Amino acid sequence: MENKKKFGYVSIIGVTNVGKTTLLNQLVKSKVGIISPKPQTTRNRIAGIKTYEDAQIVFIDHPGYHIPKFNLNKEMQKKALKGFKEVDLVILVLDCTKKIGPLDMEMLNNLKNLKTKKFILLNKIDLIKKEEILPLIKEISEILKETEIFPISALKGTNLDKLEEEIKKSMPLGEFMFDENKWTTQSEKFYISEIIREKILNLTKDEVPHSIAVEIEKIEEIKERNLMKIFGFIWVEKDSQKPIIIGKNGSMIKEIGKRAREELELLFGCKIYLEIYVKVKEKWRENLNLIKQISEDF
Ligand code: GDP
Ligand code: MG
Repeated sequence: MENKKKFGYVSIIGVTNVGKTTLLNQLVKSKVGIISPKPQTTRNRIAGIKTYEDAQIVFIDHPGYHIPKFNLNKEMQKKALKGFKEVDLVILVLDCTKKIGPLDMEMLNNLKNLKTKKFILLNKIDLIKKEEILPLIKEISEILKETEIFPISALKGTNLDKLEEEIKKSMPLGEFMFDENKWTTQSEKFYISEIIREKILNLTKDEVPHSIAVEIEKIEEIKERNLMKIFGFIWVEKDSQKPIIIGKNGSMIKEIGKRAREELELLFGCKIYLEIYVKVKEKWRENLNLIKQISEDF
């Protein structure tokens, strides 16, 4: 059966007080369940996760992009924009009761050169008259041509259904990465392993069975360096699968690592160091028996 599930990442940006948090709370509240990732100091960029029957959306927080001082230097801008390339959709929230300020303008201009899909939200429409929105829409569409603009009220929930539909439509096909009932340190390991497993399966096509397992053994955080070290194993069933995963001169495992790292850096908002070994399961089982035998001898 064809998989029609969608999975993707969305960034919500905008200056302070435009209603980003209000919107996020509205978007992620659902009967299915909300995940509030455990509060983490520097590295967790997941602001919220919304799971529908047919789609799962991870809202990512871009630190530095919702602070009043948007005057980032060139280097910081480049970094932030790189982050936006990795998401599937960027949502810029504006307060329609206010004139477009210099910071809003800077964001709009930055988005101009960004290839990632973007939406502009004109929030707080409950506070103004309908006819007052039109000039604002005109002004924005002159800066950002062909970008969808949604007048909404995050507080009252106006037009949010339509917005949610369009967000879902913008997401690529993909398996859910998060189980809405579980968010613990243990699941953090699980998510990491799932991300790596997904990269393996995508890259090796049908050459390795879906039964391959990724085990994360240890996570080390080095806060001062904004670094997360991940150690683990890829378990394959047979010796013959090992060279497929490793590839010619290690090219495959390198690519798996590179892709997994990119996604993990986006999710956790820190540098990722990944050390993964490929192991054959059968041997592991044999070893286990051996260990058992030895211990029984004693
Ligand atoms: P953030 O700084 O962008 O995260 O903004 P918040 O979500 O904290 O909202 C700032 C203020 O605007 C709060 O007092 C909200 O209640 C209010 N607010 C947000 N959305 C709306 C809206 O659609 N209509 C109205 N009237 N107020 C809103
Ligand atoms: Mg906020």
